[in-house]
Amino acid sequence: MSEILPLLGSGLIIFAAFLLAIAMTLVWKIIGLLPKGRLQHSWGVLLLLILFFVISYGLYAKYSYVNISGKTDLIVPIIFFLGAIFVYIVCNLSLKTTRDIMQIYILKQENITDPLTGIFNRRYLDSYLNNETTKAQSFTLPLSVCLIDIDHFKSINDNYGHQVGDLVLQNIAKDIKESLRDSDVVTRYGGEEFVVVLPGTQVSTSYKLAERLRKNIENTQVTIPSKSGQEALSVKVTISIGVTELSIECKDYLCLIKNADTALYRAKNNGRNQVFIC
Ligand code: GH3
Ligand code: MG
Ligand code: MG
Repeated sequence: MSEILPLLGSGLIIFAAFLLAIAMTLVWKIIGLLPKGRLQHSWGVLLLLILFFVISYGLYAKYSYVNISGKTDLIVPIIFFLGAIFVYIVCNLSLKTTRDIMQIYILKQENITDPLTGIFNRRYLDSYLNNETTKAQSFTLPLSVCLIDIDHFKSINDNYGHQVGDLVLQNIAKDIKESLRDSDVVTRYGGEEFVVVLPGTQVSTSYKLAERLRKNIENTQVTIPSKSGQEALSVKVTISIGVTELSIECKDYLCLIKNADTALYRAKNNGRNQVFIC
């Protein structure tokens, strides 16, 4: 019996150290899932702490083998063992929770993103513009909206095919995003139409931004990379833009879109490749 007790004590501690080592691999996976930043750093510190315990447990296993003579001497190894089980369970649950949260985050992002262009979709626009109009009215701040439509886009599809049409849409979305400010929210409204929301911006400033964007697109050729046996294509596109702003007469999402659409209609009727205000 006196020979079994030291073996049992050391065995419990070595097994506990093994559990802690597994817990370290779980924490390592959590760190890999997290975005760079303070949280990732904190988990890194926890990883080092567990490593410290793994080493301490190893040293203690050696020491306890010599010093365990009675049953009461097993109390400390048992507590160490239960502590390691606790750490393992917490790390395991944390990894599962992190995976679930990341999954929910990805689904949420997919839910508000247009898969073709990678910008926000109509669903996001609906909720964002509703919130922004309420906020702008509460704080009496300006808010403008631009409705952008690619001119004669159907002919691009007809002349070059839908795949080229898709590439043009992707390029235009990218150009719109790059031409505007970080505070402006670019969304795909549907088909070849985009809505840009400009919080805190009066219609006169939005007009200037829209005009700059229109010129940028007019002066840029969309290059379609060559496929096997085919030459690279350069497609020229222009856009028409309707600009409007929140006012006493027009104070909700529906009215803003309606007025932007009216302005866009005028830009189209006036020969396209133009910016109009309503
Ligand atoms: P306008 O100058 O009056 O705006 O003429 P338009 O040809 O741009 O407008 P129209 O509404 O006649 O055509 C829009 C076209 O956009 C028709 C549709 O097939 C195309 N389209 C809509 N969504 C997509 C898409 O995701 N990919 C591609 N390739 N084409 C699309
Ligand atoms: Mg259209
Ligand atoms: Mg069009």
